[in-house]
Amino acid sequence: MRDQIVSRRPAGVRYFQSEEGRVILGLERANHAGHAPSWYGLTHTRAPAASPGSFHAIALMYTLSVGPRDTFVVRERGGFAWSIWHPPDKSVLIAAASAPHWAVATAASLLPLAWLAVRLRARRHRRRRSPGRCPTCGYDCRATPTRCPECGTASKPAEAAQPATTTTTTTAPPPR
Ligand SMILES: [Zn+2]
Repeated sequence: MRDQIVSRRPAGVRYFQSEEGRVILGLERANHAGHAPSWYGLTHTRAPAASPGSFHAIALMYTLSVGPRDTFVVRERGGFAWSIWHPPDKSVLIAAASAPHWAVATAASLLPLAWLAVRLRARRHRRRRSPGRCPTCGYDCRATPTRCPECGTASKPAEAAQPATTTTTTTAPPPR
């Protein structure tokens, strides 16, 4: 089966489709003015998958209309593929990229992990910079303000003094 979501506009067409274990992202920049109003917009279609894979079918179709000075590239490797076609003036541009479902699923599952790693790193960084912590290793140095007992880093005088400054703002009443 092939599921396709297509966005049609006067300036071009974009589509996203899933079929035969892969997804294809396509972009077609061209003048599409003059269609019936119903032609434009976002549509979803489901149909039997083209055979062979439509990526090849489309690329093959292009080769018949490619001019001698056009840029036309089709690359495929390990289930990944991409193609681009445009004349020298780039008045028309047709591009598509394809990736297997497993690659998309892997990327989607790695993103939250990457986010988590960034968050943990930021937290660790924040901790090291918090008062009373060693700026090098993050060890709690409130008991030994002059030197970190864990890694030996000497504290700056300002940092060493910080835990002691329990700001007791006892504003005495003005003398009468
Ligand atoms: Zn330390």
